[in-house]
Amino acid sequence: MSEVLPSCPECSSVHTYPMGTLLVCPECGHEWAPADEAEGDSAEKAIRDSVGNVLADGDTVTVIKSLKVKGSPTGIKAGTKVRNIRLVDGVDGHDIDCKVDGFGAMQLKSSVVKKA
Ligand SMILES: [Zn+2]
Repeated sequence: MSEVLPSCPECSSVHTYPMGTLLVCPECGHEWAPADEAEGDSAEKAIRDSVGNVLADGDTVTVIKSLKVKGSPTGIKAGTKVRNIRLVDGVDGHDIDCKVDGFGAMQLKSSVVKKA
């Protein structure tokens, strides 16, 4: 048996054990329902721009600060409009897949754009 139970969210004890559908921590007495990994994936993970607007596929956004781009002497300037974005589960916070005029396809962080 090599099943690893999650540690207690209250006291971080690793000596948790299952009781019915709940997990129980013997050290602080906390009982909780383990997260169901099959659900809750799509609805909660909204990607928001720098001011908190929820972004969606196909949106147009404006870059709010100058960005360095490898191989470009100028980079992307603040105020550049980016059309038809696609939201992705990118690495390192790069959650927008898009094409920038003059630069081509690239990934941006939602924290550096604002919904247009
Ligand atoms: Zn505990």
